[in-house]
Amino acid sequence: MENKPENHKTKKESPYTMMTEIDGIELIKEDFACKDYLYDMLLMFNTLFLNSPYAVIILDKEQRIVNISKKFTEIFQYKPHEAKGKYINQLVASPENRAQIDSNIQLIYNGEIIKQEGKRRRKDGKSIYVEIMGYPVINHKSIIGAYVIYNDISEKKAYEGQLELFKKILQNNSEGVVITDTRGNIEWINTAFEKTTGYPLSEIKGRNMNILKSGIQDKSFYTSLWNELTGEGKWSGEVWNKTKKGEIYSEWLTISSIEDNFGNTTHYVGIFKDLTEKKKIDRRMAELQQKDILTGLYNRDYFFKLVDSQIKNSTDSEQFSIIFIDIEGLKDVNNSLGHHVGDKLLVELSKRLRLLMKDGYILSRCSGDEFAVLCREKDVKSVAKEFLENIKRPFIIENTLLNVSANIGISRYPDDSKDAGSLIRYAETAMYKSKGRLQEKISFYSREMTREIEEKFYIANLLTRAVTNGEFSVHYQPIFDINDPENTVGIEALLRWKNPVLGNVAPNKFIPLAEKTGYIIYIGEWVLRQVCKQIKSWDQAGYRILPVAINVSVKQLEQLDFSKRVMEIVKEYGVKPTRIELEITESVSSGDIRTIVKNIRHLKEAGFKISMDDFGAGFSSLGQIDQFELDKLKIDKIFIDGLLKFSKRQNLVKSIIAMAKSLSLTVVAEGIETEEQLMYLKEFGCNLGQGYFFSRPMPAEKIEILLDKCKND
Ligand code: C2E
Ligand code: CA
Ligand code: CA
Repeated sequence: MENKPENHKTKKESPYTMMTEIDGIELIKEDFACKDYLYDMLLMFNTLFLNSPYAVIILDKEQRIVNISKKFTEIFQYKPHEAKGKYINQLVASPENRAQIDSNIQLIYNGEIIKQEGKRRRKDGKSIYVEIMGYPVINHKSIIGAYVIYNDISEKKAYEGQLELFKKILQNNSEGVVITDTRGNIEWINTAFEKTTGYPLSEIKGRNMNILKSGIQDKSFYTSLWNELTGEGKWSGEVWNKTKKGEIYSEWLTISSIEDNFGNTTHYVGIFKDLTEKKKIDRRMAELQQKDILTGLYNRDYFFKLVDSQIKNSTDSEQFSIIFIDIEGLKDVNNSLGHHVGDKLLVELSKRLRLLMKDGYILSRCSGDEFAVLCREKDVKSVAKEFLENIKRPFIIENTLLNVSANIGISRYPDDSKDAGSLIRYAETAMYKSKGRLQEKISFYSREMTREIEEKFYIANLLTRAVTNGEFSVHYQPIFDINDPENTVGIEALLRWKNPVLGNVAPNKFIPLAEKTGYIIYIGEWVLRQVCKQIKSWDQAGYRILPVAINVSVKQLEQLDFSKRVMEIVKEYGVKPTRIELEITESVSSGDIRTIVKNIRHLKEAGFKISMDDFGAGFSSLGQIDQFELDKLKIDKIFIDGLLKFSKRQNLVKSIIAMAKSLSLTVVAEGIETEEQLMYLKEFGCNLGQGYFFSRPMPAEKIEILLDKCKND
């Protein structure tokens, strides 16, 4: 501004000189009247031209460069003197686009305006991306030149490339992405969005986001969404939307606002995760927490909740019962045919039970082979009978006919209890009563049962301290030769428990309890140690060497390391395995047969003898005798008891003895109390006997009298 008057002055003095100074624009106009005005205008345009924000070149009618703007120099690196007079192609074209530029120029010189984007070459040979606009300069309908404007868009192009990359990333994002304008009109969506909603971009572009509304969430929800979004610039939460097909889904949506450089919101970006799948998993999880996977019935915990809510919602006049069902025989199926068959049986069985359910009944599978039913029928016994009959009907699983039975216990609300936990427990207690019976398989709960159980708990508790308190002892009962009853050939070790409070407790009472609690494993080891000590002391005293029989529980035999433990213990006391016989019972066949057989085989190999105790009392199976590699068979006392009265028993005992002998087994008759019994057994060919007739079980020191001493000295 400061030198303007000076300029003006110079201009006035020598306008032509000045003109030539204005970078080569030749003035052709002769009208001197408006010379000053024209001069000012030219100056102004020239300044504008030179300082244009764009790179501009002016061409004469021969397509040669007349002048370039400063920006052109900046972008293309050519100084004005390097550019002037050159053909435009010489300057900005590269071999690949020379022809195209030529034709562009041709178009301009034909009077057309061209507008395009393309690559042009800089002086240093590097390509730049430009937006090109070419205009012809027309004077009196003839083209006297042209000017071309270049706008450097390299940066924009790079930005666009980056944008394209982002778009690709968004496109393939597993979460749905949507870009809207500030009013929620959709501008772009990605594939995941299309997949979830069913709308392709072409269909949804330009439409408002609210076409996705399911109507589940009310106006206030959307109002608060918009308030938070416009206020904080961000919102996230669960949204229930609707697909194109009208299916409702839920998504976790996060919306962020996109601002321009001035802080104005221009767009919104929504990113969402489809929650439907997650919901499905959640529902399945919840279901699993309520239901048993195998049968789809409610599990014990959930059954408890349902019973509990029934109680809370009913009055004392509304009665109902809990029927507890224990399936008998499932264990055998599992053991003999495999668990998959057992599972199929359970599924079929639960289907049968389902069919018997009536309005208001609730059926559940409480555990492996236990079911429970909440039943509203007054005549609950008939219902239980119906269950029983249906359970007893044979099943055909994998072409095998299978038979199972059931033990049922029933408790009643509100008579027995008003508490869900107790009601279910009482029904189970009553079921145990049925289990102990051969005939009546449906039992109703009574207070007496609880007392029995409480007593059992009490005893079981005292039992845990019996070893440490020294309350146990071992008695011995001689086993004699039937043909020569004076001759003792073996001894059976029998456990005794004398508790300060309970007094003498019979093994038949506490052994089953110890088996249930698992304490038998500990007790069993104690007995074995005791017997080993006794054998050692008898040996040292020089008594006749006799085998000692020890009773072994199924629970012990089911221990993987049972045989190893037994061998370790006898070794510890220096007792030879041949000195010990192990008595197992028929119940082994319903235990974990593989482990049991393995243990027995190891023990046999080590030299122990194996006897089958109480033979005939349970489910006799001759096949098992083979499997357990037995040495002895002990005929149960039950057969001996009726020997005199029933001729059938006599035949039975006779055939058992014959059979055992054919298998080369020694036969022992248990519980011989009379001479007559002894005579019969002798006649039948029984080898050995045991019983009060000969001797009761006695403490070690008393048995010693019976053992004929033959001291070595
Ligand atoms: P068990 O192995 O059958 O033992 C024989 C039972 O019959 C013993 O009862 C014995 O006292 C009894 N007994 C023997 N002769 C006669 C008789 O002539 N008449 C009558 N009425 N009874 C006779 P106990 O000692 O009460 O043992 C009962 C059961 O407890 C045993 O039956 C055995 O199964 C179990 N038991 C005893 N001690 C042990 C032990 O240390 N470990 C294990 N696992 N079980 C044991
Ligand atoms: Ca025994
Ligand atoms: Ca026995």
